[in-house]
Amino acid sequence: MQPDDNDNKQPSRKPDQVPPRGSRFSLIVFMTLIMASLAILVFDGGQNDGRRILYSEFIAYVEADQVASIQIVDQSQIRGVLVGESGQTQKFTTLIPYADLGLLDKLSQKGIEIEGVETQTSLWRVVQAILPWLFGFFILWVIMRQTQGNNKAFSFGKSKAKRYQQNEKKSTFKDVAGQVEAKYELAEVVDYLKNPQKFVKMGARIPKGVLLVGMPGTGKTLLAKAVAGEANVPFFHMSGSDFVEMFVGVGASRVRDLFDQGRRSAPCIIFIDELDAVGRTRGAGYGGGHDEREQTLNQMLVEMDGFDTKDGVIILAATNRPDVLDPALLRPGRFDRQVMVAMPDVKEREDILRIHMAKVPVDPDVDARKLAKATPGTSGADLANLVNEATLFAIRHGRTSVIMGDFEDARDKLLMGIARASMAISEEEKKATAYHEAGHALLHYHLPKADPLHKVTIVPRGKALGLAVSLPEKDAHSWSLSWLRDRIVIMYGGYAAESIVYGETTTGTAQDLKQATELARRMACEWGMAPDLGPIAYGQEDEPIFLGKEIARHKDYSEETAQRIDRAVADILEEAKKAAFDILTKHKDQLERLADELMQKETLLDEDIKTMFGFVSKSEATGE
Ligand code: ADP
Ligand code: MG
Ligand code: ZN
Repeated sequence: MQPDDNDNKQPSRKPDQVPPRGSRFSLIVFMTLIMASLAILVFDGGQNDGRRILYSEFIAYVEADQVASIQIVDQSQIRGVLVGESGQTQKFTTLIPYADLGLLDKLSQKGIEIEGVETQTSLWRVVQAILPWLFGFFILWVIMRQTQGNNKAFSFGKSKAKRYQQNEKKSTFKDVAGQVEAKYELAEVVDYLKNPQKFVKMGARIPKGVLLVGMPGTGKTLLAKAVAGEANVPFFHMSGSDFVEMFVGVGASRVRDLFDQGRRSAPCIIFIDELDAVGRTRGAGYGGGHDEREQTLNQMLVEMDGFDTKDGVIILAATNRPDVLDPALLRPGRFDRQVMVAMPDVKEREDILRIHMAKVPVDPDVDARKLAKATPGTSGADLANLVNEATLFAIRHGRTSVIMGDFEDARDKLLMGIARASMAISEEEKKATAYHEAGHALLHYHLPKADPLHKVTIVPRGKALGLAVSLPEKDAHSWSLSWLRDRIVIMYGGYAAESIVYGETTTGTAQDLKQATELARRMACEWGMAPDLGPIAYGQEDEPIFLGKEIARHKDYSEETAQRIDRAVADILEEAKKAAFDILTKHKDQLERLADELMQKETLLDEDIKTMFGFVSKSEATGE
């Protein structure tokens, strides 16, 4: 049962989106119901539910002068009032069995009031028949509203696609920083939509579907919109999760509706965001209700097969889980082209920052380059967010332009959580943190391969009591053994500093040890960097590693090898710990001074530390 106002109307020409007709329709139904109920009440008032008597009885009462007044209803029924001997009244009804022509004469002779009434118009009968149904729908609607929390009862089968029109402010490729390869691939799609004849004449086959694959926030949605903007065609935007409802069949019907809309508006782009929400491998359902998802997916496959690129409809989709997609989706004739949307590198991060900085008043001293360097591993969405946070900081401080300090604060908040200035920390704890962080920081200046330090702070952020942040010159895609060794030594800086100063360590080292161990294990198992193990990869990483988050390694080696791996990892770590101890013991005076300075200033930048100790920066030393 699917009430469907899917009435083949052309999508309205409103700029924003196909209007949500569902809510208006439900309102009309609701009003109708109220009015109908009122009508019933009014009518009930006029009804005479008296005793049912035989026509012959009625005649007898008339003869006996016991009838006070009557109404003749629809020429077939008589309602009236009887008056008894003692004056008591009683209502009655009776049916007129045949056209008794003498009746009216007789009644008027007796002086009985007669009134003709017409009730049951045909319209009223229809309403009476329909009313229970309407009422049923109404109840259903209420239930659905409750279960879904929004207003789409009567527009279930509609696609809900957002439609971006030509007159709207468009995104273009200019709004997307970097992503050169992705833009290059998509430019062909744009070219086709602008000039299909060129391709058709040459007999070239244009991909029907293009799948944008990349981590969250890398700009997939932005790219899809830019394609529509560049090609200047209508753009239907729908998210995979919009197809999924609790009622079976709804998703499939939405898919149908979406593709119908697309066909009517060709040339156009249909964009299905978060494709994995519907496109998961069939039969791998989790929980209940995967039947519904399978139906939706099947419908999508059918629709994609059902039309030709010649129709001028191109389907874009985006996902960050290509690994879970049903293989059928990736077959030729469907999403047969995949475009990788990568995380931005340093230069791209800078460009992204510039694009977003152009929208707010930014102080001329702000160094986008430096910020880009200080934000490794962030996505375009993170950076857009960073600029916004910085602007909020500036407003909070009553500034008219956003200064570098605002961006620094925003960066720290983004990468490390909110500063917890109000967190109650005892003086001793603060001192221990200062030593710990000074230990990390100092090692940056005494290790040849270490990245330069960006800053060190003992302002607590998120879970951390303090932080020493490094600033890699460029994004590394591979690391050398010596860099990795130095990195692990730095991780032991806090541990070593605490032991040297206090003769014991605190629980504040947990995160450092965990990271160091993880890195050492990868050095041993993945990169062949443990001499005792040799250049062998141990343990297969379970596919997919695309998201890089949950790498599960399954053991494909013996128990004996496992012990050797454990020993090799421990060796790497022990060596690094020793190096950290040696350096910090040798420079204990620097450690003391740096910790003292941190206690007073709380945050120190690379420059501050360099001037304190007269260190020369590595790039200067090598003349870069
Ligand atoms: P995804 O769909 O891949 O999760 P979005 O396209 O929604 O990411 O990106 C979110 C926001 O991040 C965009 O609206 C934009 O402001 C910003 N952004 C992401 N990548 C870029 C980029 N390459 N250039 C400019 N802005 C970007
Ligand atoms: Mg997106
Ligand atoms: Zn630490």
